[in-house]
Amino acid sequence: MDINIQPPEKEPERQFYFMELAAKLREEFEAKKGGRATYHVTTFGCQMNARDSEKLAGILERIGFIEDQSEESADFVIFNTCTVRDNADQRLYGRLGHLKGEKYRNPNRIIALCGCMMQEESAVEKIKKSYPYVNIIFGTHNIYKLAELICIQGLHTGENTGTGNAFPTTAGIYGCGMVIDILRGTDEVVEDIPSVRKYPFKSGVNIMFGCNNFCSYCIVPYVRGRERSRKPKEIIREIERLAADGVVEIMLLGQNVNSYGKGLEEEVSFAELLKEAEKVEGIKRIRFMTSHPKDLSDELIEVMSSSEKICRHIHLPLQSGSSRILKMMNRHYTKESFIELALKIREKIPDIAITTDIIIGFPTETKEDVNDTLEVIDRVGFDGAFTFIYSKRANTPAAIMEGQVPPEESRRQFDRVLTAVQESSRKRAAERTGRTEEVLVEEMSDHDPDFVSGRLSSNLVVHFKGEKELIGSIVRVRLDECRGFYYIGERVI
Ligand code: SAM
Ligand code: SF4
Repeated sequence: MDINIQPPEKEPERQFYFMELAAKLREEFEAKKGGRATYHVTTFGCQMNARDSEKLAGILERIGFIEDQSEESADFVIFNTCTVRDNADQRLYGRLGHLKGEKYRNPNRIIALCGCMMQEESAVEKIKKSYPYVNIIFGTHNIYKLAELICIQGLHTGENTGTGNAFPTTAGIYGCGMVIDILRGTDEVVEDIPSVRKYPFKSGVNIMFGCNNFCSYCIVPYVRGRERSRKPKEIIREIERLAADGVVEIMLLGQNVNSYGKGLEEEVSFAELLKEAEKVEGIKRIRFMTSHPKDLSDELIEVMSSSEKICRHIHLPLQSGSSRILKMMNRHYTKESFIELALKIREKIPDIAITTDIIIGFPTETKEDVNDTLEVIDRVGFDGAFTFIYSKRANTPAAIMEGQVPPEESRRQFDRVLTAVQESSRKRAAERTGRTEEVLVEEMSDHDPDFVSGRLSSNLVVHFKGEKELIGSIVRVRLDECRGFYYIGERVI
C-alpha cells in the first residue's frame, strides 16, 4: 500500500485503509519486541458494550494483533467503559491506577479508553490530569475508528519511524502522544467493520443506537446520543451473514427496541423487523433487549406468541412500582398499567419468563413507595431482576432533585427488594421441575468437568452431563433439580 496516497473519505473504506497502515506499525513493533504483538479488551457494562468490544477485537485482529488473556501483559490494552452508575467509573480508575506500574515496566504498551464514560468531559479531564500514560481516548460514536486512531498515535509519538506522513483528522493530540477523539453526536451508522465473536454460535446484532427517553436518572441519552435505527435491510443482511457463519442465536440490541424504526425513510415496527428476522434460515433462536414498557405493542405480543424462534423471555424494566416515583423518573407508565401489561403478556404467552431492572433510593423514595415495588414483584412474579441502588449522575435532572436518600436507608430498602426478587425468581424457576425443554449448549460447565451448560428459551441456565462436541447445538434436557437460579438436568434423546 502506498501510504502517501490520501486515505479514502468514505467509511468503512477509510478504516480498512488505516487497518492496513496500522499493520505496518504493528510489524515494526514486533521487530523491536522480537515477538507477536498482543491485545486485551476489557468490557464494562451492558450487552451493547459487549457487542462494541467484539468490533474492537475484530479491528485489532485484522491489524494482526493476537489476543492475550491478561490485561497485565498485553501490548495493547483497551477498556470499553460504562458510566451508568458511579461504581463503574470507580472500577475503571482502579484498573488504570493498577496499570501505572505495568506501563513503566513496558513503556511501549498502549492503553486506550473508549465507550460511554469517555463522552463525559469531566472524566476525560480527570484522565488527562491523573492518568497521563493513557495513549488513546475515544467515545461511543466512533468505535469503528480505532485503526485510524492507532495510526495517529503511532505516527505522532515518534516511536515508529519510516511510515511517514500525518493525516488530516478530527482527533486532537495532547501532551506526549495522547490522542483524544470524542464526537458529541452523530447521525452516521458505519456498517461492515470486522468483528470477533465471543461465541461462534450466538451474536448480538445492533438494531438501533442511542436513546430519546431521558429517564430522569439516566446518563445514557447524553453519552450515547439520539436514537437512530439501522435500516431493516442492513440488519437482515447482517443476520444472514451470521447464519451463514454458523450462528444459531441472535440478540437484537437497542436501548428501547420497541421504538425501533421511528425516523426511518420507510417506517417499520419492531414486530415487523422480528418477522423478517424469523425468516432467516439457520437462525433458531431470537432474543432482544431492552423493551421499554411504555412502547410495548399488542402487535409485538402477537408476533412473539405465534413465533417458533423468538425466545420465551422478555426483559421489561420496572425501575419502580410507585406511580409517584415513576412520574418523577419520566417513565410514562404507572404501577397499575405495568401490572396490566405484564399480566397480559403472561396470559398470551403462558411459559414466558419476565425479568426486570429495579432502582432503589431514587430521590424522595419512601418505605411506602418501596412497598408498591414489592407489590408489583408479588403480582407479576418476576423470573429474575437486576436491582440497583440509585446512583447520582452529573447533569441528569434527578441529580438536582431535592430529597436525595441517605445511603444507609437505600441499603435497608434494597435488602427488602432483593429478598423479594430472589424469592420470586426461585419460585418461578422451580415451577419447571420435571419438564423437558430445549437447551442451547454454550460451554463446559464450571461445576463439573463432565458437564456442559446452556440456556433454556427462558434464559435459565442448565447444567447436564455432556461432551464439548455439544457446544453450539440445541438438545432436549429434562429439568431434574432446581438449585435456586439454575437447574441440574439430564439429556433426553
Ligand atoms: N434502556 C434500558 C431501559 O430503559 O430499561 C436500560 C439501560 S441502563 C444501561 C440499564 C439499567 O441501569 C436501567 O434499567 C436502570 O435500572 C439502571 N440505571 C440506569 N441509570 C441508573 C442510575 N443513575 N442509578 C442506578 N441505576 C441506574
Ligand atoms: Fe436510560 Fe431510560 Fe433510555 Fe433506558 S430508556 S437508556 S433507562 S433513558
